[in-house]
Amino acid sequence: MHCDHLIVAKDESKTDLQKAITENDEVYNFLSSISNKYGIGFWKPGAGIIHQVVLENYAFPGGMMIGTDSHTVNAGGLGMIAIGVGGADACDVMAGLSWELLMPKLIGVKLTGKLNGWTSPKDVILKVAGILTVKGGTNAIVEYFGEGATSMSCTGKGTICNMGAEIGATTSTFGYDESMARYLRSTGRSEVADAADQVKSYLTGDPEVYANPEKYFDKVIEINLSELEPHLNGPFTPDLATPISQMKEAAAKNNWPTKVEVGLIGSCTNSSYEDISRAVSLAKQVAEKGLKTKAEFTITPGSELVRYTIERDGFLDTFAQIGATVFANACGPCIGMWDRMGAEKQEKNTIVHSFNRNFAKRADGNPNTLAFVASPELVTALAIAGDLTFNPITDTLTNEKGEQVKLDPPSGDELPKKGFSVEDAGYQAPAEDGSKVQINVKSDSKRLQLLYPFAAWEGIDLKGLKLLIKAKGKCTTDHISMAGPWLKFRGHLDNISNNMLIGAVNFFNDKTDSVKNQLTGEYGTVPSTQRAYKAANIGSIVIGDENYGEGSSREHAAMEPRHLGVRVVMVKSFARIHETNLKKQGMLALTFANKEDYNKIQEDDNIDILGLTSFTSGKSLDVVLHHKDGSSETIQANHSYNEQQIEWFKAGGALNVIRAGMSK
Ligand code: SF4
Repeated sequence: MHCDHLIVAKDESKTDLQKAITENDEVYNFLSSISNKYGIGFWKPGAGIIHQVVLENYAFPGGMMIGTDSHTVNAGGLGMIAIGVGGADACDVMAGLSWELLMPKLIGVKLTGKLNGWTSPKDVILKVAGILTVKGGTNAIVEYFGEGATSMSCTGKGTICNMGAEIGATTSTFGYDESMARYLRSTGRSEVADAADQVKSYLTGDPEVYANPEKYFDKVIEINLSELEPHLNGPFTPDLATPISQMKEAAAKNNWPTKVEVGLIGSCTNSSYEDISRAVSLAKQVAEKGLKTKAEFTITPGSELVRYTIERDGFLDTFAQIGATVFANACGPCIGMWDRMGAEKQEKNTIVHSFNRNFAKRADGNPNTLAFVASPELVTALAIAGDLTFNPITDTLTNEKGEQVKLDPPSGDELPKKGFSVEDAGYQAPAEDGSKVQINVKSDSKRLQLLYPFAAWEGIDLKGLKLLIKAKGKCTTDHISMAGPWLKFRGHLDNISNNMLIGAVNFFNDKTDSVKNQLTGEYGTVPSTQRAYKAANIGSIVIGDENYGEGSSREHAAMEPRHLGVRVVMVKSFARIHETNLKKQGMLALTFANKEDYNKIQEDDNIDILGLTSFTSGKSLDVVLHHKDGSSETIQANHSYNEQQIEWFKAGGALNVIRAGMSK
C-alpha cells in the first residue's frame, strides 16, 4: 500500500513532507491501520513513488502483476507483465476472483544500434509515442527486443515501459537479460537473479521470434538507436514528438514560448541512479564552464533509496549549486501537487519535465502552461540554457565571461559504484496479529467516507435520460476527475464528486464546467447540474469523443458519475481501463456504432436506452434521441460487455455481485 499522491511540492522536501503529514494525518493513519489489520505492507509518506518502490523491491522477471495505477507497467523493465487496472479489479483479485482482459495484440519494437551521446531510453518511448500516438498501443502488449534493448540499463527499460501507458498499451516489456540481473543484485535480490539465471531462456523471447518478428508480432516497429535524436514531446499531449533539431522551427510555427521557466526531473520514471547521475554530469558543467542556470530546476526522487544514495554521492550538493530544489519522494508536480508560485495568474509559459504526462493543467493547474516531456538530461540542458530551442548537440551557450561554450554530452553510472544505501526506506511491515487493530472513520470526516452499495438496475429500459455533457475532444481521467488539490478527497466519494467532469469541454459552448440544466434552462457547473438531476431522481447520460478516459487509471472517474446518478457514458471510443472501471461500477459504457452519430446529439436531448431487458453480449442497443423540437431519431450503440459484466450491470456493480456470492 502506498500514499505517494498527497504531498504538495512547494518549498523543499522536508518542509513539504512535514506539512503533508500534519494535513493528511487522518488519511495516513487510516491507511496504516488497515494495512496492519489486513496483513499489508505500508510504504509511508515520503517513502517514494509506488512504481519505483515496486521496481526496487517487488518486481521480478517472468512475473505477472496488476496494480491500481496506469504506470504499474514500469515493472516491464524487470521483465514482468505488469498491467494497470482500476481499484475494483485489484480488489476482486485480492478477494480471490479471476481477472480478465481482452486478449491483447502484440507489437514488437526492434531496437538496433546503441544509445549514445545525448540520447537516452526516454527518447525511445518519446519516438514510439510519436509513431503510435496516444491510441496506438490500445489492447496491445509492446515487447522491445534487439541489441539496442539488451545494451540498455534495467531502469532505462523501466522508463520505456512506464511511459508505454501514454500510448494506451496494455503493458510493455523486455526479455530478461544481464542488465536486469545487475539491477536485482544491486538492490539486494541476488537470489532472484540467481533463480532467473537458471531459467533465463524461458524469460525472454525465443531466438526464432526475434529473428523473424514479422511472423510472430501483429506489428513491428524498428528504431535504430545509433541514429535516434533526443526528442521533446508536447505540449498538452505526450505523443506530439519533435526531435530537438526541429524544435526551433516547430516553436516558431506554433507560437510556443521558447523561454523555459522551470525544468523538472524525477517522478516514478526517470529518477533512477543512472538518470540522476547523467543529469548531475551536466549540472557540474555549469560551474566548470562559467555558466549560470537560466531556469528554475527541481528534482523529485522516486524513492528514499535513490534519494539517500544520490545525497551520499554528492549529487544533491551539485544540484544545490545550480539553485535546484529537491522535492519530497512523491508524485508532486507530476500529479498536479505543485504549489507553483504565480500559477494562479494563468500566464502562458513553458516548462520541460521528464515525467510521463503533460495534459493541460496537469502539473500546476494553469491551462496556459505548455509542458514538454524529455529525458532528464535534455531537461537539465534546457533548464541551464533557459531556452526550449537549445540543441545541445550543435548549439553553444554564452557564459558569464561572454565566451561561447558547449555542454559535453551527459555521462553517468548505471548503478552506484558503492551500492545503494538507505537509513530508513519508509516501510511499515504489517502487524503480526492485526485482529485487534481498530479502523475508525468519523461520520463527520471531510476526508474519509464509508461506501454504500450502489442500487441494482431497475430491470427496465432507461428512459428520459438528460444529456449532462457532450464532451468535445480529449477527455482524460484528469478531465473527468481532476487531481491536484482534489486528491485530498479521494477517500470521500461525495466530496470528491464535486470535481466530476469539471475539466471536460462542453461541445455546445466550448467552455469547461458549464452545462445547461435542462430543468431550469440555466447554465451551471457540471457537478451542481448533475446533483440537481439526482435530487429530482432523473438519470443522465454523458457523451464523449475518441479515447474517452485515457490517462490515469483513476477509479473515481467512474465512481463519481455513478454516485451522482449518471447512468450511461456513450463515446466514440474508450480507453481500456476506464471502460472496465465504468462496467465495474454498474454503469452502461457504450460506443457509437456509427461514430458520425456523435453529431446527432443535441444540447436539450432526452435519451432512451432500449434493449436492456434482453441485454446480451455482442448485441447492440437502440438509443432514441428525443430532440427539443419534438422530433426523435434512433441510433445504435455497441458495447463490449460479456455475460459476467452484464451481471455487474444488473446487480448495480461488481462489488454487489461479489457480496452476493460471499453471502451464499
Ligand atoms: S503521478 Fe506521476 S509520478 Fe506519480 S505514479 Fe503517476 S506518473 Fe508516476
